[in-house]
Amino acid sequence: MNAARAPLNADLHSHSNRSDGTLEPAALVRRAHEQGVQMLALTDHDELGGLCEAAAQAARLGLRFVPGVEISVSWGGETVHVVGLGIDPHCAELAEGLARTRAGRDERAREMAAQLAAAGIPGAYEGACRHVANPQLISRTHFARFLVEEGVCRNVGEVFERYLSEGRPGYVAHRWATLAQAIGWIRAAGGTAVLAHPGRYRLGRTALHAMIEEFRALGGEAIEVVCGSHSPWQYDEFARCARAFRLRASRGSDFHGPGESRIELGALPPLPHDLIPVWQDWH
Ligand code: AMP
Ligand code: MN
Ligand code: MN
Ligand code: MN
Repeated sequence: MNAARAPLNADLHSHSNRSDGTLEPAALVRRAHEQGVQMLALTDHDELGGLCEAAAQAARLGLRFVPGVEISVSWGGETVHVVGLGIDPHCAELAEGLARTRAGRDERAREMAAQLAAAGIPGAYEGACRHVANPQLISRTHFARFLVEEGVCRNVGEVFERYLSEGRPGYVAHRWATLAQAIGWIRAAGGTAVLAHPGRYRLGRTALHAMIEEFRALGGEAIEVVCGSHSPWQYDEFARCARAFRLRASRGSDFHGPGESRIELGALPPLPHDLIPVWQDWH
């Protein structure tokens, strides 16, 4: 096999314990390197605090590092995630926007705990906090880990199904950033906006396409095609979508930690060869 033509093992979506991953940023980078990842983006939810440590570790290992973020957005009553890649972590507009996006998380978490207590599960706020490394970023994932620890559910996926999804007893609706804000902050920071895991949104086809159209009109440039949340048939569906909307394509595991994530860092199949990878013109 011609090594020069082997596709780059790029993993452009991952989390550390600065949001809802379980590994320290440096440990995440070491694991990516061990798994054969050649280009890694750390994309913590609404948070840039792990980027400096991750970049330093990547430099020590000679691994190409892409500073990233995953911004929580509300669109049409659904929560949508927008990944920013190649952002300047020192951009004030981005940092301030993210700080405002994070601000409501604690109150939301207390309300979630109140609802879980009413459903017969007391102490969830304190329990979730024991899993939180960054006090500004308490997420549903931390509640899920607490409920697994308590033996209420067998795994994190089951907690989401039974307690933390819309309509379930621990779910609290929340207003995140707008699509325009998220893309605006990413662009202000010199980054590329990528629509994360489009196959995960509970939007009908028409609404999904309207959202992608709006994403593109606002300056969004790429879409995740091969990602940890997609089934193999969705790789094809969103490859067609990338072609139809003339968007670049991204690949990312969305790794959150060993033993929890279905997909290991760098382990996904390559992008369909006719798509333009989001990293094509990066130097
Ligand atoms: P939050 O930002 O607090 O609403 O939490 C969102 C996070 O929950 C996502 O980034 C995922 O890590 C996790 N999550 C959402 N849905 C599921 C699910 N069905 N199974 C496992 N984890 C999920
Ligand atoms: Mn997450
Ligand atoms: Mn996401
Ligand atoms: Mn993610």
